Amino acid sequence: MTIQDEIAKRRTFAIISHPDAGKTTLTEKLLLYGNLIRSAGTVKGKKSGKFATSDWMDIEKQRGISITSSVMNFPYKNYQVNILDTPGHEDFSEDTYRTLTAVDSVVMIIDSTKGIEPQTIKLFKVARMRGIPIFTFINKLDREGRDSFELLDEIEDILNIQTYPMNWPAGMGKQFLGVFDRYGKQFVQFKGNEEETYIPFEELNEYQDISSNPTFQEAEETLQLVEEAGNEFSLEDVLAGEQTPVFFGSAIAPFGVEVFFNTFLTMAPPPGPRKSTEGIIQPNNSDFSGFIFKIQANMNPAHRDRVAFIRVCSGKFERGMSVQLARTGKNMKLSQSQQFIASSRETVEEAYAGDIIGIYDPNIYRIGDTLIEGKQAFEYDELPKFPPEIFKKVTAKNVMKSKQYKKGIEQLVQEGAIQLFKRNRTEEYILGAVGELQFEVFQARMKEEYHVDVLFESIGERIPRWLKKEQVDDSLFDERNMLVRDREDNNLVLFKNDFSLRWFQDKHPKIELIDLFDVN
Ligand code: GDP
Repeated sequence: MTIQDEIAKRRTFAIISHPDAGKTTLTEKLLLYGNLIRSAGTVKGKKSGKFATSDWMDIEKQRGISITSSVMNFPYKNYQVNILDTPGHEDFSEDTYRTLTAVDSVVMIIDSTKGIEPQTIKLFKVARMRGIPIFTFINKLDREGRDSFELLDEIEDILNIQTYPMNWPAGMGKQFLGVFDRYGKQFVQFKGNEEETYIPFEELNEYQDISSNPTFQEAEETLQLVEEAGNEFSLEDVLAGEQTPVFFGSAIAPFGVEVFFNTFLTMAPPPGPRKSTEGIIQPNNSDFSGFIFKIQANMNPAHRDRVAFIRVCSGKFERGMSVQLARTGKNMKLSQSQQFIASSRETVEEAYAGDIIGIYDPNIYRIGDTLIEGKQAFEYDELPKFPPEIFKKVTAKNVMKSKQYKKGIEQLVQEGAIQLFKRNRTEEYILGAVGELQFEVFQARMKEEYHVDVLFESIGERIPRWLKKEQVDDSLFDERNMLVRDREDNNLVLFKNDFSLRWFQDKHPKIELIDLFDVN
């Protein structure tokens, strides 16, 4: 098989959702189709006290290991599927965001009883920033949920993306009859625990029991409205991340999951070209290249090793190969490499664009590092910065340890474990993170690796907005709206809350406040 063939069959994506929308349940079903787990029943949800295959996080935390998002990799039909997990709950961190820099598309799950929730918005914005295709699965149709039109409107309004329903539900909850599959031109009948049946549209009138049902008839009418007034389907817009195909179903039944998965795989793009300092790099470039999007310390507490996660972007990876670390120009031999197959890790011998591999990190890699083979010389675009939400002042408990303290902070910040800011005038250190867990991990690692106890003083959740250099005026800021500098010496303000932000904006309309997440 040529490199081109290998690339063409790869689909590398992440599933994003707010906790409890059904990510674990849906992932399990996909693993089932990939024959990775024998039956979904063997993998229980979190609430029953057992862990699902995709939830390594908790398992690893139990063993005293920190942040990860797992990678699941399996062949399905003619595809090679790579699913990157995005941890939620209290494990939500910058890693969750960074994972989205390593995928070619995302699947967004929305709970039909709830609609768009906060974590969905945050993750969605990262995908939107990257302009990658977003596929939507509206879950839990077996329950009494919200009106389908209302849900689509909400996606369009809040997320600012066009929707195109690929299927249209007939009823919901107890009245749930199934969906009109607009793409496959068939009605998919929901039969509870029994397998779904597929009835081609033109044969529907032979099924009197269905077609005479008032719920069915009502759905037919609303579908008519969708056909007449809804958006037109455009694969081009889907691939540009401007339109999201929407599927209705139930992950737990499972209902509509297989049709969704098959359609998704047909439409979702294989690994594409990526920007670098030397222009666009094609995935079928014969030389290997990739970038590190995550580094995980202490994956195995018995040997205090670190694993760097590489997204392969071009060429062919072969175990033991020599590559160059573009940042330093140093040659590295990649002999200890792993691929992640559900919950077990196996040594990987070869990998292609789209694949994720883990390599042993003797403490030299950084997040965003580019690895290249041969005579190439370039670096992939820097990973984007993500705005932290929680901020804390940090100090060393023992001032005598200030040297180790600074060294430790420096390294952990460089590694991307947490973000560091310095307060103007006082020069106090302030740490910022996306999730609470990042502070815990920071504290633990400072103690273990640098033997320093650190103290935190919370300054609460803040809204960061960056300023243009020429617009910085020290006198405008105070404890409430705190002026700080990031590592690149850019100024930003940590606003106390939404109200302070708006108040400031009204008072100083000329000062431009830059939101890193402003994707509209
Ligand atoms: P996650 O937090 O997004 O991974 O969500 P889970 O997959 O753990 O699901 C959260 C809860 O919703 C669990 O109790 C699931 O059994 C339930 N759930 C998931 N999918 C469905 C569905 O299609 N219908 C119903 N009724 N419940 C579901």
